[in-house]
Amino acid sequence: MPEAPKVPIAASATHDYVIDHNRPDVNQNALEFIEDVTTNADEIQKRVLAEILSRSAHVEYLQRHGLNGRTDRETFKKVMPVVTYEDLQSDINRIANGDTSPILCGLPISEFLTSSGTSAGERKLMPTIEEELERRSLLYSLLMPVMDQFVPGLDKGKGMYFLFIKSEAKTPGGLVARPVLTSYYKSLHFKHRPYDPYTNYTSPNETILCPDSYQSMYSQLLCGLCQNKQVLRVGAVFASGFIRAIRFLEKHWSLLCNDIRTGAINPQITDPSVRDAVLRILKPDPELADFIESECTREAWQGIITRLWPNTKYIDVIVTGTMSQYIPTLDYYSNGLPLVCTMYASSECYFGLNLNPLCKPNEVSYTLIPTMAYFEFLPVHRNNGFTTSISVPKSLNEKEQQDLVDLVDVKLGQEYELVVTTYAGLYRYRVGDVLRVAGFKNKAPQFNFVCRKNVVLSIDSDKTDEVELQAAVKDAINHLVPFDASLIEYTSYADTTTIPGHYVLYWELRHDSTTPIPPSVFEDCCLTIEESLNSVYRQGRVSDKSIGPLEIKIVETGTFDKLMDYAISRGASINQYKTPRCVKFAPIVELLNSRVLSNYFSPKCPKWVPGHKQWCTQKQN
Ligand code: AMP
Repeated sequence: MPEAPKVPIAASATHDYVIDHNRPDVNQNALEFIEDVTTNADEIQKRVLAEILSRSAHVEYLQRHGLNGRTDRETFKKVMPVVTYEDLQSDINRIANGDTSPILCGLPISEFLTSSGTSAGERKLMPTIEEELERRSLLYSLLMPVMDQFVPGLDKGKGMYFLFIKSEAKTPGGLVARPVLTSYYKSLHFKHRPYDPYTNYTSPNETILCPDSYQSMYSQLLCGLCQNKQVLRVGAVFASGFIRAIRFLEKHWSLLCNDIRTGAINPQITDPSVRDAVLRILKPDPELADFIESECTREAWQGIITRLWPNTKYIDVIVTGTMSQYIPTLDYYSNGLPLVCTMYASSECYFGLNLNPLCKPNEVSYTLIPTMAYFEFLPVHRNNGFTTSISVPKSLNEKEQQDLVDLVDVKLGQEYELVVTTYAGLYRYRVGDVLRVAGFKNKAPQFNFVCRKNVVLSIDSDKTDEVELQAAVKDAINHLVPFDASLIEYTSYADTTTIPGHYVLYWELRHDSTTPIPPSVFEDCCLTIEESLNSVYRQGRVSDKSIGPLEIKIVETGTFDKLMDYAISRGASINQYKTPRCVKFAPIVELLNSRVLSNYFSPKCPKWVPGHKQWCTQKQN
């Protein structure tokens, strides 16, 4: 994640802990800030909670639960329930529908941030307030001072980051609803950032803010290639996005070279502001064009990043969580450049940063910054057995609500689900991420990201859980009924060997009739599954093109018995064995692939519209 302009945080309960951006040694000042807030973590957490609760003492939600203006931790923990999105849905709907009374937060809700986590198939809507932008900017401003300790001199060149905006919608009440990064890139904090050697990117703002994803990617790559010698670091938010850019280059390098050779921009780039911005950088450079062409026409693309951008020191992308599936591809394209995961954040709140950015991806831990929100932790326990599923209670009883521990009280090695209370009106909200304590920076814990609760499949920012997958499969198998065929067993796999990656379903069928099932029926099954998956998945297919067509592979009869035999041979209990609904382990994927009889792809994209489905229906009515 690239860093952001240096903006002072608003005066608040944490005002003793500020970064003075006018100090000449601003990097040192940022490191001192980290030192201070991690040393005084508990004191700050207490003050953050008190500040959030006193500012919002009069809001309906806190009054409903009888907090009565109290701001201490003990009363808060006794009175306030630990909640999920579904518990807040009706309050959030009221805000979305235009109720401006203080329901969740004492300050006006400025917009909704649409999470990649979904509820009932639609993106969750996270309320936010204007000042949260400052908190996000503060976290960004810590990244380069940390990085500078390990890789000095990054201020002498540029960062080539592929950054994109996504479509936005308006709620029926008129609030903008968009992803957090879209909100950030469109903000004045980003657009009007003062010159800073650390926020010197190869992509002009206009190319990042271009709503057409082809033009945005094309122009960002063109600018990155033109300035190839100046690039010292490359990246995108998630690994999947960076790989998509390399894939785009594989497809379009000859057009890009043509532009560099002639100094004229491809007429497919029609956005006037993008054209102007690119033409400020693009100059005829036949020598560079020849060089790029000779590199891109080589048979293997191994090391293409270090060949085209020879001064690159690292790749800045998130490869923790499900993104770890992309590590081998990134290693291949970069000849093993360091993969740097700098921060951990969400639409609900930005959480923390990696203080040891050159560590290996499997060692990454994030230090939560105590000024960002009030954090609590719900202990979770791994199920024993063949599948390493994580057992997290759905709704908590009173005793479990008391089990939550504070930031400074988590135990080394223990896994927890993250629960946040934010300045923007979430109280004891379960984020859905499972974290493991890997160590401490002073008093503040450092967490490995373990997983997102319940997610079985993910290619990009999509997160599909077992229940959604089951419902989608159930819809699809209706197509088999006229052929006297039924589904005996199934499992799934996120195949990232293709670019973009795609979902694969392995189906074992019982087919008694002699009437063959035409391929079009299985294609219909693929499409029905895609239509039934959540809107983040469908957006990835339709708009972002970050997910490829879903594939069904029909496997031989008896394949799932073989899968069970394999699991039992590795120690699974025969009584407790359940078919895993998603597989990741390479030998199992190989076993399944060795028994495939036929395979089918979704013939077209599923339907998707920006915003919530029900908002469009309301508009039409
Ligand atoms: P969103 O609400 O769409 O912004 O997604 C936020 C979620 O993305 C988090 O709750 C995590 O599940 C995931 N995420 C964000 N940052 C990281 C990271 N550094 N490593 C792993 N997962 C992350």
